[in-house]
Amino acid sequence: MTQQIKIMMLGGVRENGKNMYGVQVDDEIFVLDAGLKYPDSSLLGIDIVIPDLQFFADYGDRVAGIFLTHGHADAIGALPYILRDYDIPVFGSKLTIELAKIAVQHENKQCNDDLFHVIDEDTEIDFNNVTISFFKTTHSLPDSLGIDVSTEKGEIVYTGDFKFDPSAKKDYRMDFVRLADISRKGVLALLSDSTNSESVLQNDQQPDIEKYILNVFKNHDGRIIVASKASNIVRVQEIFQAAAATERKVFLTGRDIGRIVYTAMQMGYLNVPKDILIHGKDLKNIPDKNILILETGRMGEPLKSLQKMATNRHRMIKIKNGDLVFIATTPSHSVETMVAQTSDIIYRSGGIVKQLGYDKHTSGHATGRDLQMLIDTLKPKYLIPVIGEYRLLEIHKNLAVEAGMDPENIYITKNGDCLLLDDDKFYLTDPVPAEDTMIDGSGVGDVGNIVLRDREILSDDGIFIAAVTIDRKKKKIVAEPLVSTRGFIYIKESHDVMDGASDVIKTTISNNFNHKKFDWTELKQDLHTNLEKFLYKETGRRPVVLPIVMEVNQNRHRAMVRRQANVSADHDDIEAVKANSNLNVISQIVKKGTYSNSAAVSKYKFNNRKIKIKRDIKNVRFRPKKIN
Ligand SMILES: [Zn+2]
Repeated sequence: MTQQIKIMMLGGVRENGKNMYGVQVDDEIFVLDAGLKYPDSSLLGIDIVIPDLQFFADYGDRVAGIFLTHGHADAIGALPYILRDYDIPVFGSKLTIELAKIAVQHENKQCNDDLFHVIDEDTEIDFNNVTISFFKTTHSLPDSLGIDVSTEKGEIVYTGDFKFDPSAKKDYRMDFVRLADISRKGVLALLSDSTNSESVLQNDQQPDIEKYILNVFKNHDGRIIVASKASNIVRVQEIFQAAAATERKVFLTGRDIGRIVYTAMQMGYLNVPKDILIHGKDLKNIPDKNILILETGRMGEPLKSLQKMATNRHRMIKIKNGDLVFIATTPSHSVETMVAQTSDIIYRSGGIVKQLGYDKHTSGHATGRDLQMLIDTLKPKYLIPVIGEYRLLEIHKNLAVEAGMDPENIYITKNGDCLLLDDDKFYLTDPVPAEDTMIDGSGVGDVGNIVLRDREILSDDGIFIAAVTIDRKKKKIVAEPLVSTRGFIYIKESHDVMDGASDVIKTTISNNFNHKKFDWTELKQDLHTNLEKFLYKETGRRPVVLPIVMEVNQNRHRAMVRRQANVSADHDDIEAVKANSNLNVISQIVKKGTYSNSAAVSKYKFNNRKIKIKRDIKNVRFRPKKIN
């Protein structure tokens, strides 16, 4: 019987980050990378976005392992959330696994160390019907690997993030011999990095960038504050070298930098000059011209930390006259605006800004020419452009056609697509779960579209809160309705609107008492509708309307809150309202976010779906293979 082969787009196509792809051969699924993405500004208050965890609920028992290409967040960032509930073996190079462990430990303290397996470019792993092996690639951190899933129909190759750079140092060098080797076996499908397909300019080579950074450091007399991603180890190395050459001591600040530098140093991937690192308390004893501050930020985002430094909100550092801020990352299109805003703030606080990306092409990703060269080398039958926004996938496709591929054999996919190989051609079959899972604080997936929509409305037109206490038996309103708003209108100048709203509340309640059989839900619904209509008529805006009706209990003289069925009844909140039924408390509840005004809060009860997959990985053989 011939093998059944499927390729699944679990994340990372038509978007920037959250890379995760699945290759299914018969009953086994091999997950390639498990990354996160940082949200754009439309996802209000969301920290990070990861692939759909429903996939693991549905298919988890078939997942043979998660195979990582490298240690960047867009390749490993979803692991903490996946491993929280699923015991799936994870395979990656020495450095990748260390970085993955650091990420997991941050979010998920009880991670099972046995799940992690260190592999290298000489490892072959035999599963039931396929063999998986790896090849070295060049990227902005060492020990990056591409993945080759060897099936009976041919090789399925996933590059991960990569680029070509003939001047790359030892731990960063692409293994072209292996590529030729894989090509000879016959490549069925190539899943290749589209991030930088737009670029027609070649990336600058390593020595040029080193020289450039050294020059920047040499030509500045004051302090230098460098913003870089901690995981961009090649850059961190260049910065250490240039600091040492210009007699600067380095102070590290940022959430993960210490551990990452230490880990990379321990493993021999980072060469930190002796005695160069200093503590925060040493800063005041060292002349400015001998100081370099390396800021890597929280969750790989140094820009926010720079803003804090410029506005005196940073724990340790305040930007002052004479400081040079050197932005050493190449910002993606989505954060370019933020870079500009940050630069503004820095100049205002007396600093100046220099950006590596303005003068040098330092992308860690393959340019258009690199992509064509890879296609030329591997000669894949089918190409699936991955890792990148829509236009980048299309550009990648055009490049492939230019390189001689048949457009029919290139698939532009979207997240959720599942391609089935049938009769030597791929067809779309039943989709796989690939919605965004949004992480807000420590909550996984409990913020759905409806909550987001509420946040969006809140940010557009604000919120309108109406609280009223009634006595149901006597059929009357006990106290004047309390109305309050946030971000809707300025109350002091809008007495008419507020008074009018108060009247609407009174009329609605007395109508309910007089004409209807009393019903809580209906009363709140009527209040909601009438207030919305009134406010729109008066102001042309549609704030989130939040009616809160309290009832006086004749016997106990205590106010009680009845809340809509969809509201999670947080006991403490109800107690608080009981104790002190004023608007402040109510606003607190609203702020705490336990209330959603919409009918169906999407509840992704992760813990209820918990499936522990205990995989016996004895059927996996590690067979070292030497390549000459
Ligand atoms: Zn990367």
